[in-house]
Order: sequence, then C-alpha cells, then structure tokens
Amino acid sequence: MTVDPLLEPLLAGDRRALAQAITLIESTRSDHRERADALLGGLLPRTGKSVRLGITGVPGVGKSTFIERFGLSLLEQGRSLAVLAIDPSSKRGGGSILGDKTRMEELSRRLGAFIRPSPAGATLGGVARRTRETMLLVEAAGFDTVIVETVGVGQSETAVADMVDMFIVLLLPAGGDDLQGIKRGVIELADLIVVNKADGDLLATARRSVSDYQHALRMLRSPTAGWTPEVATASALTGAGVAEVWQVVERFMAAVGEKGVARRRADQARAWMWNEVGETLLAELRKHPGVRKLVTGLEREVEAGRATPAAAARRMLEAFHGR
Ligand code: GDP
Repeated sequence: MTVDPLLEPLLAGDRRALAQAITLIESTRSDHRERADALLGGLLPRTGKSVRLGITGVPGVGKSTFIERFGLSLLEQGRSLAVLAIDPSSKRGGGSILGDKTRMEELSRRLGAFIRPSPAGATLGGVARRTRETMLLVEAAGFDTVIVETVGVGQSETAVADMVDMFIVLLLPAGGDDLQGIKRGVIELADLIVVNKADGDLLATARRSVSDYQHALRMLRSPTAGWTPEVATASALTGAGVAEVWQVVERFMAAVGEKGVARRRADQARAWMWNEVGETLLAELRKHPGVRKLVTGLEREVEAGRATPAAAARRMLEAFHGR
C-alpha cells in the first residue's frame, strides 16, 4: 500500500498539509473519500493525545471572545490549541457567525493556534463527522488541546458533547425566572457552567446566577462518572476568571482519570461507527432507483393517512432489498 504524501508533513505539524488534509476529508467526491479514509487510518495511532473540550452557548454569550482569551492563556502556558466549529446552518460563502474571519483575530495569528470554521453542509450528521475527523487530523499534527465550539442550534450540543472529553456551557448572568429560559437539555450535558460577562453592572447578577445554576445542577445527574459539575464566573472582556477555567479542566481530567477518559472515547468511537452505518445506509437507500420511484407516492399516502408510516417504511425497505 502506498503511503499518502500528506502523512509525513502532517505528522511533522506542517500547516499546509493539515489544511489540505482537512479539505480532503470535507470533500464529497468518492475518490477523495477513499483517500481520506486511508489517510485517517494511517494517522490513527498518532491521534488521541489532546484534551478535547466542547464549548457551547447562545449567539452573543461571548464564545469567541472567551475562546480567544482562554486560548491565548493556554499558549502562554506552552500549550497549543485547535478550535473547530460546528454550525450546521453554515453555507460556504454565506454569512455564518462561526465562519466570520474577524473572530478570534489575535488567536488566529498565533503559531500555536489553529482555527477552522464549520464545514458547510446541510445535515448535522455530515458536519459532525467531518469535525470528528478534523479533530483526529489536528491531533496527529501535534495540537494538545482541541476546542469544538457550537451555537445551540438543533442537536448540535449533543453532537459536540458526544465527541469531547469535557463539555463547557457558557451562560449569561440571569436570575430567578430567566432560568426557565435555559434549555434543560443543554445543562444536562454540562461538566462546567461558566457564567460569562461577570463584569461591570452584571457582576452582582452573575454572582447570584452561580448559586441558581448550582441549584439547578443538583437536580440533575452528572454526565460524567467521577465528576460533579461545577459553576464558575468569568469575564471574557476583562479576562477575570478565564485562565482559572483551565484549572477546572485539569481537575476534571484528574478526577475522571486516564481510564475514565479512555472509556468515554471508546464509547464515543463505537457510537460513531453505528452512526456511520446508519448515515451510509440511509444515503444508499435514498439513492436506490426502486426506492426513488416509490418515495413521493409513499410520502403522499402517509401524509393523507392512507398508509401507516410503518407500512410505508416496510414497502420502501422491500424495494431496497429488491423484493
Ligand atoms: P458569541 O456570539 O458567543 O461568539 O459572542 P461574542 O464573543 O461575539 O461576543 C458578543 C458580544 O458580547 C461582543 O460585543 C463582546 O464584546 C461582548 N462580550 C463578550 N464577552 C464579554 C464579557 O465577558 N463581558 C462583557 N461585558 N461583554 C462581553
């Protein structure tokens, strides 16, 4: 088997090779896909050595301001950082928030940092797969910290939580009734809540929110064995509390332990495999000529209540199997 020419430079940390490899895995051409699979297979033994963090929060909470400052403090400590974004709504060339070039301007100029906007793609599944693979690439290229960032759209938080070691939720200072507006499903995933914008007029509210959020967390099961979720405050603007978040990350990694992290990653890899099976089968089903002939008619019958969805699905699968 021939070794991909991108392999060696990528392992040596060459940025151009990394960018080319990412373009390759983002391609939908089947020959590119085969090459990407072979490349990833060759790299796999050299992946997995980073700390994988997920960060989410509504637009405007301060994600990019926070990640920039957090990232700069990591670089000061001699670490390196890749920031990957997941935004299923992003279209190439479109006005995606996460694709905005001006975000994290200072961080993006640093040698130890690598920032990649969300791949364009309609489905969350497709975007998530490419981000998972990009994570493997940046690890092979030597980055020791990876942040996967997402805005809270669709199920993107769950997708991110399913590919990282630790999940961080940025929230705005809010109290009492406003807590109702926070999506419970997101809090359930949090290993750490950071109340951002704890500065100026918002400082007092931020401090009060901490106990509110702590209270909310106590009602929930921890998403991670061996760790009790925490709440911290930070100001991405002034930098107060930002570097401290890394201390929490280190405590988290120590509490969960190498075995705990390895188990979580093993679970994630297995789930990812089944996910791939599901996505691939579904794509093949949709392409199947016999199925395509039936789809519109079956959809109509189901919509009109003339066929049950289960019966229609069975007919589609029978066509797929050529029965
Ligand atoms: P994102 O949409 O979550 O990435 O949010 P941004 O990082 O773009 O920040 C949205 C706005 O909030 C910007 O105007 C920031 O300057 C401001 N902002 C971000 N962090 C803080 C903070 O800690 N304190 C204050 N007061 N403003 C902040």
